[in-house]
Amino acid sequence: MPQTADAHGLREDIARCVHCGFCLQACPTYLQLGKETDSPRGRIALIEAMSSGRAAPGAPPLLGHLDLCLQCRACETACPSGVPFGRIMETARGNVMEGAAAPLAWRLRAAALRQVLPHRRRIAAAMALLRGYQRSPLRRVLRRTGVLGRLPRPLRAAEASLPVLPREPFAAPPQPPGLTRTVAMLRGCVMPHLYPRTHDATVRVLNRLGYRVVFPEQEVCCGALSLHAGDRQQARALARRNIDAFLEAEIEAIVVNSAGCGSTMKEYGALLHDDPAYRERAARFAAMTRDVLEFVVAETLPALGEVPVAVTYQDSCHLVHAQKVTQAPRALLRAIPGIELRELAAPDRCCGSAGLYSLVQPAMSARLLADKMDDVRATGANVVATANPGCMMQLEAGLRQRGIEARVVHVIELLDEAMQAAGGAAP
Ligand code: SF4
Ligand code: SF4
Repeated sequence: MPQTADAHGLREDIARCVHCGFCLQACPTYLQLGKETDSPRGRIALIEAMSSGRAAPGAPPLLGHLDLCLQCRACETACPSGVPFGRIMETARGNVMEGAAAPLAWRLRAAALRQVLPHRRRIAAAMALLRGYQRSPLRRVLRRTGVLGRLPRPLRAAEASLPVLPREPFAAPPQPPGLTRTVAMLRGCVMPHLYPRTHDATVRVLNRLGYRVVFPEQEVCCGALSLHAGDRQQARALARRNIDAFLEAEIEAIVVNSAGCGSTMKEYGALLHDDPAYRERAARFAAMTRDVLEFVVAETLPALGEVPVAVTYQDSCHLVHAQKVTQAPRALLRAIPGIELRELAAPDRCCGSAGLYSLVQPAMSARLLADKMDDVRATGANVVATANPGCMMQLEAGLRQRGIEARVVHVIELLDEAMQAAGGAAP
């Protein structure tokens, strides 16, 4: 069944729900609010009412409950009936967006994403402006004079959650000679600007495992943000461009270190199922896509040196619930000498990042982050590891706000540190 179901497919997906309620205790918004309408089961009932015509598709109270969903897919993991909630929600949002009653806010969000995501130069220019702002006296002045505090809440949330951008964005490094196996790596839209160190670590690890890493020049955003915003047309357009870019190269796999991107890329086959020109290549692209942690854990690791830290691991929703990758990050962390892994009370519960969620639903995002920080503090860990740039940003913001002395890393960075500690410079 394609990830984006047609009307018939949507009805079939909805019909799989037997209303048992096993998903309720897995749903972050239900746990916060205790309301059926903000639970998976309740949202499925609302979507069913919309799709059968019993409720107007654009009714604001109804869409509010859909908007509050993080699309974290924890309900999918909990559901014994295999209800594909992610597909149901993406299809419902897509149907609203493509109908006459799409709310203005949804249209504006999709239009803004269309102006930015396909254009790497525009993203780079925006990031350069932001970098300049963060390093200028203007930020301090705005803070001291209270101007930032008077900004609309989404802007305030964005300003507070952004990490200080490194001086230089990621630049694809020259590859060591003599490596015979080749993988392609997704750079992503904002990750090269926010976390170039994670990309550098990923390339070094892959090089040490014997892989040459290539970066297709024509790569664009994976389309996840557009898909979650209901803009299926744009998500498909971006997917086609990535398929053309990546399948040109002679590669064994497409490696991704952003769980949200990897999850969408693994679903390209379903996204383009109805496109005869791309169906076969989209399925091939999806089958070649690997999260870096599942890719690396299947390899024979070289000697690892000691990294003496107490680590807690936050599952990224789109790694654990969408890609079902749970053990690989933990196996890698346990393989590193010196690491003490201390599990969170609810490691697979969303931290409130969820793509644009922290901007469009800042209040719920802040509640989820506050709970997550309580859990982090309880572990006493001095490193918080995860597998997605959005989670990294959100967790860093939480640690800053709460004054918790810990650093946030991607798991691959700890593996890179361990390889370096063993004396293994990249070849
Ligand atoms: S667990 Fe699955 S079948 Fe049960 S209510 Fe939730 S979505 Fe429906
Ligand atoms: S995707 Fe997440 S927030 Fe949305 S209904 Fe499922 S568990 Fe709740």
